[in-house]
Amino acid sequence: MVGAGRYAPSPSGDLHLGNLRTAVLAQLFARSSGHRFLLRVEDLDRVRPGAQERQLADLRAIGIVWDELVRQSERRPLYDAALAGLIADRRVYECFCTRREIQEAASAPHAPPGAYPGTCRNLTAAERAERTAARPAALRLRSEVADLTVTDLLTGPYTGQVDDFVLRRTDGIPAYNLAVVVDDDAQGVDQVVRGDDLLPSTPRQAYLAGLLGLPVPQYVHVPLVLGPSGARLAKRDGAVTLAELASDGVSADDVLSLLAVSLDLAEPGEPVSMPALERRFDPAGIPRAPWTWTG
Ligand code: GLU
Repeated sequence: MVGAGRYAPSPSGDLHLGNLRTAVLAQLFARSSGHRFLLRVEDLDRVRPGAQERQLADLRAIGIVWDELVRQSERRPLYDAALAGLIADRRVYECFCTRREIQEAASAPHAPPGAYPGTCRNLTAAERAERTAARPAALRLRSEVADLTVTDLLTGPYTGQVDDFVLRRTDGIPAYNLAVVVDDDAQGVDQVVRGDDLLPSTPRQAYLAGLLGLPVPQYVHVPLVLGPSGARLAKRDGAVTLAELASDGVSADDVLSLLAVSLDLAEPGEPVSMPALERRFDPAGIPRAPWTWTG
């Protein structure tokens, strides 16, 4: 079976220009390399009512077309099965730390910044029983490495931390890093195109894929869109969603054209379509610097 690329939005609000640009790039990478293209709604948490429907409508409006759509909320058995395998392999431990306790322990001298400090890694059975009575546990991976190097098509080798990250949260919800690895494999995804804010999570995901015996996909982390202040584009940066832009007289077709210009795939004002962009697209030619949207 041919491999797949995907776009995986979290329905926590409306998509903005940065999200739409990443979706366009994900489809261009997939189609131009003969991949299927899938949409995955990452709705395990942070769901805002109506956001999913609006996201899908906005993606369609700019010409994104997917071969298959799945929702993570309907795939819990897959994540549970992967977790069960890791538990059987003794790769998992219960963690009872609160966020505050982690922050306090992590600020101790010699703790690698940002890493889980390992507080619950070697609890005795008696200590675990005592803590279980007090509060629900998260499940963490017992990582055997400190960091890992992955290769990204655009940024090259990237080395990042692999700590004892969370696999299942205290509320029982599978963590993003587990779900994304399980889903990408289960869906035949071998090309992961996403915003480069996720590059720091990638070594954890590649490590987990290895433990689960799964192939590591090709990673393509694309530059983010910045707002007028120079920080990552956000909703507060004015008209940044299709609905907001439409009320300023900018149509979905205009937005696709703007995004194409930002990718050096069209001249300013030139009408374009996704099939036309797919024919023009050359991965080597995409701008490496972030694109700034000034409205
Ligand atoms: N759902 C994630 C987000 O919207 C993206 C996950 C991914 O592409 O791996 O930030």
